[in-house]
Amino acid sequence: TRTYIVTGSASGIGAATAELLKERGNTVIGVDLRNADVEADLSTPEGRQIAADRAVELAGGSVDAVIACAGISAPIPLTVSVNFFGVTEFLDRLAPVLAGSEAPRAVVVSSMASLQPNSPELVDAMLAGDEALARQIGQKLADQGPQIGYLNYPSSKRALSRWVRRESVSDRYAGNGIPLNAVAPGTVLTAMTKELLATPEGVKMVDENVPMPLNGHSEPVVIARLLAWLASEENSHLAGQTIYCDGGADATLRGDDI
Ligand code: NAD
Repeated sequence: TRTYIVTGSASGIGAATAELLKERGNTVIGVDLRNADVEADLSTPEGRQIAADRAVELAGGSVDAVIACAGISAPIPLTVSVNFFGVTEFLDRLAPVLAGSEAPRAVVVSSMASLQPNSPELVDAMLAGDEALARQIGQKLADQGPQIGYLNYPSSKRALSRWVRRESVSDRYAGNGIPLNAVAPGTVLTAMTKELLATPEGVKMVDENVPMPLNGHSEPVVIARLLAWLASEENSHLAGQTIYCDGGADATLRGDDI
C-alpha cells in the first residue's frame, strides 16, 4: 500500500480523495486548518513548513504521493497565499522526500477559473515567487470591490497551472522521477459552491460562466477518482498537464483554441 499526503482533507474534494484512497487500502495523512491529522495553516510560510514536517513525521519519513486540494475562492489576497504559495511551497518542501519513493507522484487542484480573465501582473508575481508583491497586487484588486477582487482566484489558478507546466520538467520533479500534474474541475458540489448554488440566480450565474453540457455539476468523488489515478503507480508518463474534469466546460468555452 502507498502513503499519501492530502491537503484540504477536511472538506469537499480533499475529503472525498482521502476517503477514496483509504477505501482502497492506502495510508492517508490529511492536512487542513482543523479536523485533520496535521492541523496547520498553509497560507503562511511557517504553516507550510510545520505542515510538511509533521506530515512527513507521521508518515514515518516515507511518502509516495502528495495531492494538494486545499484552496479558497475569496476575493482577497489570502487566496493567492493559499492557492498558489500554499501549494507550490508545500510541494517543493516535500519533493526531496517523495524522491525516496519507488513511484512518487504529485498532483494539485487548479480550476476551470484558470482560463477566466485574470491579472497578468499578479500571475507573474506569483510565478516569480514573490509572495509579498503578489499580496500587494492582490490587495489593490480587493480594494476595488469584490468583482475586481475576485481576480485573485482565477489568477491564482492560472499561475498554478503554469507552475505545474514549468516545474514538471525541472530537476526537482522530472529529475526525481515525480510526475507533476493538475486537475481543473468545473463546478463541484462542495462547501465552496454551496452558497452560490443555493439560489436560482446563483446557479444561472455559475452555469453561464462554467457551462457543463456533460452530466452537469459533479460530486467531489468524480474529481477524487482522477486525482487518485494521477497519483497512482499507473501514471508514469503524464506530466505538466492540467486535466479539465469539467463536464465539457473547457471544450465549450475554449473550443478550438488549444
Ligand atoms: P472546500 O471548501 O470544501 O474545501 C477546501 C478545504 O481547504 C477546506 O477543508 C479548508 O479548510 C481547506 N483550507 C482552506 N484554507 C486553508 C489553509 N490556509 N490551510 C489549510 N487548509 C486550508 O472546497 P473544495 O471545493 O473541495 O475545494 C478544493 C479545491 O478545489 C480548491 O483548490 C478549489 O479552488 C478547487 N476547485 C473547486 C471547485 C468547486 O466547484 N468546488 C471548482 C474548481 C476548483
